[in-house]
Amino acid sequence: MTAHGSNQAFDVAVVGAGIHGAGVLQAAAAGGFRALLLEEREPAAGTSSRSSKLVHGGLRYLETFQLGLVKESLAERATLLRIAPSLVRLVPFHIPIYRDTSRRPWKIRAGLSLYALLGGLARDARFSRVPRSEWASLDGLATEGLDAVFRYFDGQTDDAALVRAVLASAESLGARTLVRTRFAGATLEGDAWEVRYVEGTEVRTCRARTLVNASGPWVEDVRNRIDPRPLGFDVDLVGGTHIELEEGLERGIYYTEAPADRRAVFVMPWKGRTLVGTTETPYRGDPAAVKPLPAEIEYLRSTFARYFPGRETGVVAAWAGLRVLPRDGTTPFLRPRETRLACDDERAPRIVSIYGGKLTGYRATAEKVMALVARGLPSRKAVADTKTLAIG
Ligand SMILES: Cc1cc2nc3c(=O)[nH]c(=O)nc-3n(C[C@H](O)[C@H](O)[C@H](O)COP(=O)(O)OP(=O)(O)OC[C@H]3O[C@@H](n4cnc5c(N)ncnc54)[C@H](O)[C@@H]3O)c2cc1C
Repeated sequence: MTAHGSNQAFDVAVVGAGIHGAGVLQAAAAGGFRALLLEEREPAAGTSSRSSKLVHGGLRYLETFQLGLVKESLAERATLLRIAPSLVRLVPFHIPIYRDTSRRPWKIRAGLSLYALLGGLARDARFSRVPRSEWASLDGLATEGLDAVFRYFDGQTDDAALVRAVLASAESLGARTLVRTRFAGATLEGDAWEVRYVEGTEVRTCRARTLVNASGPWVEDVRNRIDPRPLGFDVDLVGGTHIELEEGLERGIYYTEAPADRRAVFVMPWKGRTLVGTTETPYRGDPAAVKPLPAEIEYLRSTFARYFPGRETGVVAAWAGLRVLPRDGTTPFLRPRETRLACDDERAPRIVSIYGGKLTGYRATAEKVMALVARGLPSRKAVADTKTLAIG
């Protein structure tokens, strides 16, 4: 390998082109900062192409009283529907309640009322009970033992396309992205980092005043390459599998309950096919090697077959992604989904690391990261506002 130095100096160097890295790059460029992003593989090669593709408040987080997260996510949903109408659209969601479903109709009604309230009682926050006369038109949903079906609206997107669109927006504002370029390490020298990265067989360096670790499930690996090693959190990686079935759905998304353990499982129309997900299985090992376990595929297939008994259940594809959750010894399903930021010095951070989070909240997270990072940077003139800048 050959090493090349460069006189390039950036205000911010971002590691990882998932939705968080793309969002931070865009927010940095919008703030007028000189920003560089390094991505080892392709944009959205990690978790950001393996999500459930929902831009949502997260109805089920009401059960664990994560009201702040739901409120912020619903506000972000409204922003994304406005600035990215070609990428994020509202879709009807259906919640069928059977005699043996654990959540009773009153509980769903109460949850949806609170959801509407947290969504500012906007028009798209309305929900209704689907009349019995319409049940037969719900994509073959099983009606035996069915007590009620609730309908409300939430957002659906193409996660990888969203990442690419946010990156394109950042680049149009002057930011630089290097793909197939691995962040190899950084050392603090004086008032800036010497950043080392590998492009092909070449080791290159550049200088950056601040660093943002947006490497998702690789957050610890990247942290360990930084000298001095920054503060961080203890986390667990939890795998989430989706399966893809050949036949599509017509009427929207279904929010079902897995017969095996009562966890929520989404059944979603996706590019003419059907996605069913997800599972939550603790994972150890190389994040790049995560793949669905046969038991997870069967869990999702049999949940689908329970609710859509007349439909084909041949699995045409399956994949897994990794959630980054705080380590606290409880079941992954109950752990907080808030994004956590770690920084070395709150007054003038030189490094900020992003832990966990949601696709939905990427813009708000990116703005919070840049508000922190900007404290340690010279002031620059903002050139755009991510809240109004159109993407897609
Ligand atoms: C199964 C599942 C379903 C989900 N569903 C939803 C949903 O429906 N709605 C929602 O809002 N959220 C959802 N989420 C959460 C959301 O998908 C994630 O929070 C988000 O995608 C994380 O993005 P990220 O940018 O932090 O990480 P990633 O997308 O994983 O990006 C990290 C990037 O860093 C790169 N990288 C790593 N190491 C290096 C290095 N040394 N040098 C350079 N680059 C490096 C990787 O190649 C990768 O591209 C889901 C998560 C999972 C796991």
